[in-house]
Amino acid sequence: MSARILKGAEFRDQIYAEVRAEIEALRAGGITPGLAAVLVGEDPASQIYVRNKIAACEQLGIFSAQFTPPASSTTEDLLALVAELNSRDDIDGILVQVPLPPQVDTKRVLEMVSPEKDVDGFHPVSLGRLVTGRPGLVACTPAGCMEILRRSGIRAEGANAVVMGRSDIVGKPMALLLMHANATVTICHSKTRNLPEVVKRADIVVAAMGRPWMVQAEWIRAGATVIDVGTNRIGSAKEAERLFVQHPERLDAFRKKGFAVLGDVHPGAAEAAGAVTPVPGGVGLLTIAMLMSNTVKAARLRREAGRAAGTPAAAGAVRS
Ligand code: NDP
Repeated sequence: MSARILKGAEFRDQIYAEVRAEIEALRAGGITPGLAAVLVGEDPASQIYVRNKIAACEQLGIFSAQFTPPASSTTEDLLALVAELNSRDDIDGILVQVPLPPQVDTKRVLEMVSPEKDVDGFHPVSLGRLVTGRPGLVACTPAGCMEILRRSGIRAEGANAVVMGRSDIVGKPMALLLMHANATVTICHSKTRNLPEVVKRADIVVAAMGRPWMVQAEWIRAGATVIDVGTNRIGSAKEAERLFVQHPERLDAFRKKGFAVLGDVHPGAAEAAGAVTPVPGGVGLLTIAMLMSNTVKAARLRREAGRAAGTPAAAGAVRS
């Protein structure tokens, strides 16, 4: 049996179509959603991520503003910038691209972002809202994984779900979302004993460890759904030779390109699974789609909150 491949592009396009419709409705009311991206220093990977996010904004008609403070910025500099963005009415979402330079207190900077504009869903208030089932902005990658399940018609209710990884930005929110969707959730981490046995009991497997091809086909129960969040860039020839010992075509491709991007799940898992997300081309595409969706949601929620409180934000006419 070969698994159904859950391609990210299909779900991303559906989400973009819905986000476009929401943007049109907001614009009809005189509101253009706006996203501010803060890119500190010149880290090449961060530059690519931010460029892709800005391109998505342009594609959808979301106003975007990029801020590029130097790598020498202090915590205070960034706190001041975020405070200014918090107070700007034309900005609905604030994205601070991590990692920040080592001299900066990342937690303080991320906590400075107003929870109402926290489109990455990293703020403790956002996480607290998720824990307690209140409406709010949910971290983009786990939210994207849930969209893949929902849009593929894979039911979480009553399912045994195993989440490998317990980070604040992927594993924990993922486990909470699955729990709210009425799955029975097990969270695994580096100290989990007998990981393959635990995974074998799962109807839904989420791998978010950052360990290339660690999850083997034998770990997967027949017919299970496998969501592979892992995005591991392999740059070393030695590691590629080890990983691709039985995949000469992959080794050739690595030698031509000089790198490979692998998930946490071995591709052999597709033989046992009922459905799998590919890497690349799976979960990663949904992360930016959910950022766009969160920005539009933040624009809507902020206006609704403003209306309820009778504040000037209720007027909403920000840009045309
Ligand atoms: P972290 O490094 O923050 O967390 C990794 C988690 O995996 C930790 O909880 C760790 O356990 C656990 N872990 C590590 N090794 C093992 C092991 N051998 N057995 C069991 N558990 C293990 O990573 P992130 O959550 O930030 O990211 C995880 C992966 O997802 C990465 O590959 C990342 O690139 C990818 N990612 C992809 C995104 C996308 O858009 N597609 C977005 C965000 C992340 P412990 O807590 O005990 O240390």
